[in-house]
Amino acid sequence: MLEEELFEQNLKLLQYVKEQSGAKILLALKGYSFYESFDVARKYLDGCCCSGLYEARLANEEFKKEIHTYSPAFKDDEIEEIIELSHHITFNSFSQYLRYKDKLKTKVSSGIRVNPELSFSEVALYNPCAMNSRLGVTIQEFQKELLDGVEGLHFHALCEQNAGALEAVLESFEEKFGKYISQMKWINFGGGHHITRDDYDIKKLIDIIKDFKKRYNDIEVYLEPGEAIGWQSGVLVASVIDKVHNGMDIAILDTSAEAHMPDTIIMPYRAEVRNASKEGEKRYTIKLGGNTCLAGDFMGNYSFDKPLKIGDKVIFEDQMHYTIVKNSTFNGVKLPSLAILKKNGNFEVVKSFDYNDYKRRI
Ligand SMILES: *Cc1c(COP(=O)(O)O)cnc(C)c1O
Repeated sequence: MLEEELFEQNLKLLQYVKEQSGAKILLALKGYSFYESFDVARKYLDGCCCSGLYEARLANEEFKKEIHTYSPAFKDDEIEEIIELSHHITFNSFSQYLRYKDKLKTKVSSGIRVNPELSFSEVALYNPCAMNSRLGVTIQEFQKELLDGVEGLHFHALCEQNAGALEAVLESFEEKFGKYISQMKWINFGGGHHITRDDYDIKKLIDIIKDFKKRYNDIEVYLEPGEAIGWQSGVLVASVIDKVHNGMDIAILDTSAEAHMPDTIIMPYRAEVRNASKEGEKRYTIKLGGNTCLAGDFMGNYSFDKPLKIGDKVIFEDQMHYTIVKNSTFNGVKLPSLAILKKNGNFEVVKSFDYNDYKRRI
């Protein structure tokens, strides 16, 4: 359940950053794509950052405004539609840029994603600058002789971080790629700016952007946060359907960490639960588990003032970003078709999925 008022508070803060800094802010659909709320978001933000064809279609149908598309690798059978839908396209390599350069229309502004080789992301899974990363061109691989037609540079190296981390990454970016900035029209600072978190240093962010723009002839700067937009704006409400005991009390809920809140297992992170504390802090500790047969389908141990009963509601806080998107197809990446290789040797594709399967589940 999204709480519109909380959502709009986030957007107003982002609007303030835009106004004060002169940067444009895009919504990264990868992290937040609950499009029934886009009528509100559209009033404050400049457009969407899309991870491929399906997200670009969604932005075009439900958000409008600017559409910026980046993918680790575009595919031949999708690029034309992506070009049709997008205002900016950022390529992950010079090989991709060369492959599709001639198809680009003049209305599309193209960019290259670079790897600043500095990230403070504590979790390797979320570190785009980790060793052997496939995301972005390193300075060693950068082919300046191929920059003809390239209008922007893009880096994305932050994850849930404050403005100090941006400052350091920007410094590394400029050290490596600074000499190419004056020939660009825009620089995209990526996402991972945790702007709407209470302790985020808004003033520092604004100063960093203003200073950058001043040094580079008022170049256009984009930010594309996802998480910061949906941050603490809604909850997932579950119910206790049974209680069992095995060394401790365990509640079985009508939801699942694995199926509905996968980040709690993948990252892993511990969702806050309303009126609950850490294990042992309140009188009644209980393990919260999901209703799947995966042995490890647990959200964690929590303690409550009163014992949980069958039928009680359990409210998981802050479940809008990176939860809904993982109940659909993450990044809008197409689901694989299903096929049967028959005993007689015939091969039959029995089901394939399309954009509508993705959109309907958001
Ligand atoms: C994930 C991602 C974002 C959004 O990151 P948040 O952490 O949700 O702000 C923006 N740009 C790119 C290229 C990304 O991969």
